Amino acid sequence: MSCELKDKERVGVINPIFTCQPAGAQYASIGIKDCIGIVHGGQGCVMFVRLLFSQHFKESFELASSSVHEEGAVFGACRRVEEGVDVLLMRYPHIKVIPIISTCSTEIIGDDIDGVVRKLNEGLLKEKYAGREVHLIPIHTPSFVGSMVSGYDVAVRDFVSYFAKKDSPNGKLNLITGWVNPGDVTALKSLLSAMQIDSTVLFEIESFDSPLMPEGNHVSHGCTTIEDLTGTANAAGTVVLNRYEGGKAAKFLESEFGVLATTVPTPIGIRNTDTLLQTLKKITGKPIPQSLVRERGIAIDAITDLTHLFLADKKVAIYGSPDLVIGLAEFCLDLEMRPMLLLLGDDNPGYKDDPRIKELLEKVDYKMEIVTNADLWELENRIKNDGLELDLILGHSKGRFISIDYNIPMLRVGFPTYDRAGMYRYPVVGYVGAMWLAEQMANTIFTDMEYKKNKEWILNMW
Ligand code: SF4
Repeated sequence: MSCELKDKERVGVINPIFTCQPAGAQYASIGIKDCIGIVHGGQGCVMFVRLLFSQHFKESFELASSSVHEEGAVFGACRRVEEGVDVLLMRYPHIKVIPIISTCSTEIIGDDIDGVVRKLNEGLLKEKYAGREVHLIPIHTPSFVGSMVSGYDVAVRDFVSYFAKKDSPNGKLNLITGWVNPGDVTALKSLLSAMQIDSTVLFEIESFDSPLMPEGNHVSHGCTTIEDLTGTANAAGTVVLNRYEGGKAAKFLESEFGVLATTVPTPIGIRNTDTLLQTLKKITGKPIPQSLVRERGIAIDAITDLTHLFLADKKVAIYGSPDLVIGLAEFCLDLEMRPMLLLLGDDNPGYKDDPRIKELLEKVDYKMEIVTNADLWELENRIKNDGLELDLILGHSKGRFISIDYNIPMLRVGFPTYDRAGMYRYPVVGYVGAMWLAEQMANTIFTDMEYKKNKEWILNMW
């Protein structure tokens, strides 16, 4: 009995875990200030993604579509991008950054978005918008390659490579968070602040948890500025928290500008947060303050109360973004839980070389499956037909019906989460995230014990 890494054996997908590459590029684009992306494709490529963002954050975000129709699909639709850029610039006088995000259809018909950008730079921008700062950035995200995860990775690289410019060292640290929630950004900034590290957080999306103000506000925006992106070339180093969601940008900065890139294990759980802090200490020379030692101690105390009595030996299935899934699995193992099935929703050939997956393959001494290119049927089929018994599911809202239909408690983690309130506000990273995750897993199991009248009396004595 050991851990096994394998590809889904079926052709086709039943209940996908991920959506497509342009979604990732759109998520990156909404993290930038004064930016509205144009997705070059059918309107649905924006409509459904924007809906997911709104469902997850209960906020509204601005994204545009070139809205390709039959004529464009047959004869080419570059003209629609040209018109789209003009309309955006006319309608939004503050907009400075417009990524042109390709899709499956426009990549297949061969629309040359790089050529369109050159043409607009030479024509429309000089003639009609002379003196206005406008950046048009082509981002290629065909949906028949990768997933929303790789689309995010590509877009972060393209934004960074477009803006990064060598100047004098700024002494800052680039922290590329990956596709995380506002609560994660708050927690990470708190760690950096406690260590007195001056940083550029990419992307600064804490503001996605937006207030409703008296003057009225209809949309949410990220706060990463052009200056932030330009300065990434002058940083003391780059730390990547999710290797599949920001790794490309870090590599670019290292190869192009000599900015040292360090990829840490996604800081989910005590062990991985320790590694992050030790890495930050090594790069910056800043000590780990007593306040963080205390924060760690509080988390460990909370976790110790739960692990042996309630979490040990609980069988878990985890699905979603690879860095999140692997980080959660590592944390569950530290809590003496038994991750049985890890589902990664795309076929990235790099998974087999991921040191974290290699470690799982080497060290796990019971039957654990890691399935790539997976869908939610991989989970449902094992429960329904193969006798997989689970105590807990960790994943986003798209798997909710498996939890409901098979009576398995589920903690919502990852994107999109729309069937529980306010989850984006709570971090899964850092010591506070470790504590929150352990407590939420325990509370989910407690509710299930009560609902099923399964040793619920223990909770009286605890
Ligand atoms: S699969 Fe293609 S058509 Fe569908 S949303 Fe993605 S890019 Fe658009």
